[in-house]
Amino acid sequence: MSADGIAAPPGASPLAAIRAVPRAGWHVATVAATHRETPNASRIELDVDGWPGNAAGQHLDVRLTAPDAYTATRSYSIASSGDSTRVVLAVDKLPDGEVSPFLVDDLRAGDQLEVHGPLGAFFVWRPAVESGDDRPVQLIAGGSGVVPLYAMAHAHADASDPTPFRLLYSVRTPRDVYFADEWRALAAASAPLQVDLVYTRQAPDDWPAPPGRITREALEAAVIPAAERPRVYVCGSTGFVERVADWLVGLGHAPGDIRTERYGGT
Ligand SMILES: Cc1cc2nc3c(=O)[nH]c(=O)nc-3n(C[C@H](O)[C@H](O)[C@H](O)COP(=O)(O)OP(=O)(O)OC[C@H]3O[C@@H](n4cnc5c(N)ncnc54)[C@H](O)[C@@H]3O)c2cc1C
Repeated sequence: MSADGIAAPPGASPLAAIRAVPRAGWHVATVAATHRETPNASRIELDVDGWPGNAAGQHLDVRLTAPDAYTATRSYSIASSGDSTRVVLAVDKLPDGEVSPFLVDDLRAGDQLEVHGPLGAFFVWRPAVESGDDRPVQLIAGGSGVVPLYAMAHAHADASDPTPFRLLYSVRTPRDVYFADEWRALAAASAPLQVDLVYTRQAPDDWPAPPGRITREALEAAVIPAAERPRVYVCGSTGFVERVADWLVGLGHAPGDIRTERYGGT
């Protein structure tokens, strides 16, 4: 592991790992399709001119330019990975937000955006054959923070990677689950994946637990124990990520094994 946290394949130098990360640049993206992911979020498929491919867990920046040349730039995780120039995003609408309501409600097939990426080398998962690390992987998401974790679980299944994967996913209601059909298919695929959901506002009728925010006890019961030295990826709003990361450290997980991505907010 290099100082900046990039895991090099066994025998490879950290520099080789850095070179393996595709070079980021600005690209023109054409919207290929959009559809409602949840009542409050859209899935956006982009065809990105000259996209160099991306690893599971990376993100990009979207830049919007108004007719008066005012620009607004926001970061979005990438739900897809690999060599394809088709890049998938999933965006949650913040009611008073500047950019997300436009992306969720107004974007149409054929529209063009500017994107910069792929970005991020630390919050990335690679198959064990590439990374040389076959420890189990615990994914923990709050809301739209599941997007890069979905890319990781998909890449894990595509690679038929044998390392155990477990997802703990906190969502408001059953209708707010991102990639619901895909999670079911991934859990039934050959790569080992267990999905645990926590509903914060409304649970299905037959759900064993009442809705409520995740607690330290619920987290402890649903994550791979610290004794198994899992690599942990946590993503969501800043408050969610910081609370979960503190609990994980309290439960004995090594801080260096916990990778976090904060989306902002509280
Ligand atoms: C690396 C990275 C990856 C991201 N990936 C995704 C993604 O895949 N999908 C996605 O929907 N969003 C993602 N985000 C969040 C995204 O960048 C924007 O912050 C979000 O879309 C809000 O932008 P906005 O212009 O609509 O709101 P703004 O006008 O920027 O903000 C409106 C208000 O909402 C608050 N706020 C900003 N972000 C959040 C948040 N996450 N939760 C609660 N309150 C918030 C702000 O503090 C402000 O008060 C990511 C952020 C980062 C840093």
